[in-house]
Amino acid sequence: MSRSEHARGGPSRLAGLVGSGIGPSRTPFMHEAEGAAQGFAYVYRRIDLDVLGLGPADLGDILRWAERLGFDGLNVTHPCKQAVIAQLDDLAPAAEAIGAVNTVVLANGRRIGHNTDGTGFLEAFRRGLPEVARDRVVLLGAGGAGAAVAWALLRAGVRELLLFDLDRMRAEALAARMAGRFAAARVALAQDLASALARADGLVNATPVGMAAYPGSPVPVELLRPALWVAEIVYFPLETELLRAARAAGCRTLDGSGMAVFQAVEAFRLFTGHEPDIARMHRHFAAAAESFDANRGEGS
Ligand code: NAD
Repeated sequence: MSRSEHARGGPSRLAGLVGSGIGPSRTPFMHEAEGAAQGFAYVYRRIDLDVLGLGPADLGDILRWAERLGFDGLNVTHPCKQAVIAQLDDLAPAAEAIGAVNTVVLANGRRIGHNTDGTGFLEAFRRGLPEVARDRVVLLGAGGAGAAVAWALLRAGVRELLLFDLDRMRAEALAARMAGRFAAARVALAQDLASALARADGLVNATPVGMAAYPGSPVPVELLRPALWVAEIVYFPLETELLRAARAAGCRTLDGSGMAVFQAVEAFRLFTGHEPDIARMHRHFAAAAESFDANRGEGS
């Protein structure tokens, strides 16, 4: 049976988020609140692997059932962003370049993977730090989110991207992947953080450091100086120790909310075919945080 016709708002939509520990995610609320604001029926379910006793090996079954049950698409998060690729028919260019998928569109019997973390950071960066110098940027963290941010920075025209990760092999693998796709740019490992930052225009934190569970700053704050812009992707809390220190040092800054909102903006477009209202999506994000804080005393 195809999706039902909703009385006034056109066809209803059905989507979901697959991953571990996704209870605090604000993404379901952003999607459903925007669907409601636009006047069509839109249900966005959490498919929590921990609750269901499932793992990445079950992704084939999850996708099959999602298709049978009429889902328009799924967001996928930790630990499924790479494992899901084996289950897909095709990848959008950003997902192919990044090597990870956070959005699967299910349509016409096909499964297409997208990476809206990458396009989300790119959009947030373009809007939040327009016109900043970007010849040389230091990126901390070469995990799943770091890969999406690296792609976005290179798409934004960064000419030299210096990667730093405590796990050197991860940084090396990401440098090799991106260097092969952005031949005009230099993608290398930052050998020494202090000297890399002394020559950089910008710094992006894509490590978990700064989250409530990993407090602190990922770089010594005395290395910050006014000419350096600083972008954060951690968004719980919104003001991390790094951002606080960067503002105090006179740096231009970008917090992690923009990436979180714009990944949902693009996924909403892909799942529903409707154009979300961006200012309203920011308000949904803030409202989700407030209701979560009020109910559970934490959030993400
Ligand atoms: P991940 O575990 O895949 O990767 C994190 C990487 O950081 C690892 O490679 C680790 O070795 C490295 N690392 C940890 N501490 C470090 C340090 N002090 N210095 C250098 N490297 C260090 O995690 P991920 O999926 O890439 O996510 C990272 C963070 O990004 C998350 O904790 C989350 O807060 C944030 N995130 C935000 C958004 C958003 O929309 N704003 C989206 C995804 C992830």
